[in-house]
Amino acid sequence: MGGGRVVEVLFVGAVHGEEGDRTVKKVSADTLSVGERKFTFDSVLDSNSNQEDVFHVVGVPLVKEALAGFNTTILSYGQSGSGKTYTLWGPPSAMVEDPSPRSHQGIVPRIFHMLFSEIEREKENPDRKHKNYQCRCSFLEIYNEQIGDLLDPTQRNLEIKDDPKSGLYVENLSEEYVTSYEDVTQILIKGLSSRKVGATSVNSKSSRSHIVFTFIIESWSKGESSKCFSSSKTSRITLVDLAGLDRDKLEDAGRQHVQEDKNVKKSLSQLGHVVNNLAKSSQPENSGGTPYGSSCLTSLLRESLGGNSKLTVICNISLNRHNGEILSTLRFGQRIK
Ligand code: ADP
Ligand code: MG
Repeated sequence: MGGGRVVEVLFVGAVHGEEGDRTVKKVSADTLSVGERKFTFDSVLDSNSNQEDVFHVVGVPLVKEALAGFNTTILSYGQSGSGKTYTLWGPPSAMVEDPSPRSHQGIVPRIFHMLFSEIEREKENPDRKHKNYQCRCSFLEIYNEQIGDLLDPTQRNLEIKDDPKSGLYVENLSEEYVTSYEDVTQILIKGLSSRKVGATSVNSKSSRSHIVFTFIIESWSKGESSKCFSSSKTSRITLVDLAGLDRDKLEDAGRQHVQEDKNVKKSLSQLGHVVNNLAKSSQPENSGGTPYGSSCLTSLLRESLGGNSKLTVICNISLNRHNGEILSTLRFGQRIK
């Protein structure tokens, strides 16, 4: 490939809820204030923004980068009830619609709608008719450090394996080949329904699991004169709906969920180190090794964040939560300058 590794981290603050007498305010396109304190992001969206706006900030650049061969990742971070799931997927019923600005459709279906329109356009471009694409995807859940297949719920406790040639992979995880937006939305709806969703209940399993949708694009192009496909490119889109770590959950859940909460806490704190390190390594003087650590989540992300990669962290904040929780999300997501 030549040239150095390109790593970019984009931090987006997304605030939802009525402002009321809360002290959290968007003060400019990239700054939030909490009382006297200011937090800077690459972009700040608030309740005046809709899903289409989030898509323009996060999704449109991602599709372009993915088609240009970058590995791209979105992490949706925040406490339970802060809008992580809403922002990424939106309600399943809205997935089957064509995206419209006012629809609640999440950014993930919008991303694949655009991706497949771009691929179709590319195929029809007379200069580029020598380009071929193949796309496949998988959908998994990490619950209490155990990996389950959301596309085949009989597969639980899957193991991460390291192949010297192809890198890390999850053994026996199903992969589906897809050729259209409709194929992808069907898989998303199926996978999301396998997640044991207890809606927004703070103690539900859904608030304690990370879910990871991985989409792999392989493309081949062939030169004008050559008869066979010469160069191939592989890029990976990784979309992660993270578990929320909530202070009141820790207090009221009793002993039942202690181990789950410890695992969530550990994996989120390792994730914080990884993200900080990546943000720093995009500055030229810093290119040290990234501490992917030993949690399932960060191990899996090693594949997505290696190579030339672009990471977007969406920090979701709900004004209905405690200030302490809002601050911990803002601290995680503050852009490192
Ligand atoms: P999380 O996944 O972080 O636990 P959810 O995405 O489930 O949170 O959001 C909690 C509730 O708030 C859901 O009912 C969701 O529909 C609603 N919600 C979240 N963000 C928004 C938003 N920006 N606009 C409207 N409703 C939202
Ligand atoms: Mg959720």
